[in-house]
Amino acid sequence: TGTTTNDNFRFFGLGGSNEVGRSCHVIRYKGKTVMLDAGVHPAYRGMASLPFYDEIDLSTIDVLLISHFHLDHAASLPYVMQKTNFKGRVFMTHPTKAIYRWLLKDFVRVTSLSNNANSNIRTSNDDDNLYNDTDLVESFDRIETIDYHSTMDISGIKFTAYHAGHVLGAAMFQIEIAGLRILFTGDYSREVDRHLNSAEVPPFSTDVLIVESTFGTATHEPRITRERKLTSLIHNTVVKGGRVLLPVFALGRAQELLLILDEYWTQHSNDLGNGQVPIYYASNLARKCLNVFQTYINMMNDNIRKKFRDSKTNPFIFKNILYLKNIDDFQDFGPSVMLASPGMLQNGVSRDLLEKWCPEEKNLVLITGYSIEGTMAKFLMLQPDHIPSINNPDISVPRRCQVEEISFAAHVDFQENLDFIEQVGAGKIILVHGESNPMGRLKSALLSNFKNLKNTEKEVKVYNPRNCVLISLEFKGVKVAK
Ligand SMILES: [Zn+2]
Repeated sequence: TGTTTNDNFRFFGLGGSNEVGRSCHVIRYKGKTVMLDAGVHPAYRGMASLPFYDEIDLSTIDVLLISHFHLDHAASLPYVMQKTNFKGRVFMTHPTKAIYRWLLKDFVRVTSLSNNANSNIRTSNDDDNLYNDTDLVESFDRIETIDYHSTMDISGIKFTAYHAGHVLGAAMFQIEIAGLRILFTGDYSREVDRHLNSAEVPPFSTDVLIVESTFGTATHEPRITRERKLTSLIHNTVVKGGRVLLPVFALGRAQELLLILDEYWTQHSNDLGNGQVPIYYASNLARKCLNVFQTYINMMNDNIRKKFRDSKTNPFIFKNILYLKNIDDFQDFGPSVMLASPGMLQNGVSRDLLEKWCPEEKNLVLITGYSIEGTMAKFLMLQPDHIPSINNPDISVPRRCQVEEISFAAHVDFQENLDFIEQVGAGKIILVHGESNPMGRLKSALLSNFKNLKNTEKEVKVYNPRNCVLISLEFKGVKVAK
């Protein structure tokens, strides 16, 4: 960074700007450089799925902070640490690190499997593998952990982790460099969940807020309504003998759905319980990660900890859920409910079951996550007559099953986002993690919300940069902390 004489705060998005996927943002101030997240884009494969790492010199990064374990925020980290000239320090929370390990091992396995499946149309199976198991293990040992509400100081870069809701281990980071405070939300949620602490507003003021805009100006239905819709759609399908496919990301939101379904099945044991309609959770990570969820119950909300204390049993030991480590063990007779990954039906178990079940009218595919542009889950929402087969794109499979979407993605909606943004009270807001249209609408709504402050010293500026477009902000009179 020796070439710059510029004292401005600078933001440069390498991915996840005006899109959802491959999140990676670089901030620079007074000669210090912090990278926020290192994800992949789930709609692309191999090198094409990476953030635009070539656009900067990665050896200039001092600190890299990972907000949570989702692939669009963490899956290119082993690539950055093992395959580039990056030499900074990497931090994440304990649960994020614990889950990251198994998740990325699975990511390596699934990407190499799907390469093999398509080997007839590829010159080399290794082309799309960003890294292998060895890279993963070597990178793992160099990742440092941070507790919630504790502050690290790495050569003048101070940062603190706060609860973000969303998934177990998710954090917001408030970063302080030479008196300037920046808050990065990552993905966050504010509504009361069955097991997570919702996002908190840091006790210190923020100058620059970098905030997600996934749902733009959309409004979520109340949680109770969504839960009822979910359970009644599933119930109605299985009593008619249909199969229900819930494509989920292996960990995180899947656990919340399992808590809802397990409780509902217990309440309706007459016609659903005792194996009449089995619920399967197809994940070879399920067992390993159950341990993680059990271990970190002390980091969850009062609601689930109370359950844990009162019943003296772990709420993540479900009564009505069967684990399927290998889909070959699955006997597909009669109605059933299947949670399978990946969540966007790109490949793997959920895609195979989709192709098997979608020709049948009485079956239901229920999308509960956020579907990224360019993935099968997003395409399916258009109710296409046919879908391409993953193993042979020349074959198309008729789609007659019902397709529904009920979001349990745990991102803030407009009102929740606006309330949070107002409480944080930053003068500069940089929007990330949203497709162009919802992000543009959010920007307009924010500007109109803050229009009374225009041309005063409390004026709020909102930015929605594209990838690789530099934002440079001047801060006058920021007190130097030292
Ligand atoms: Zn996420």
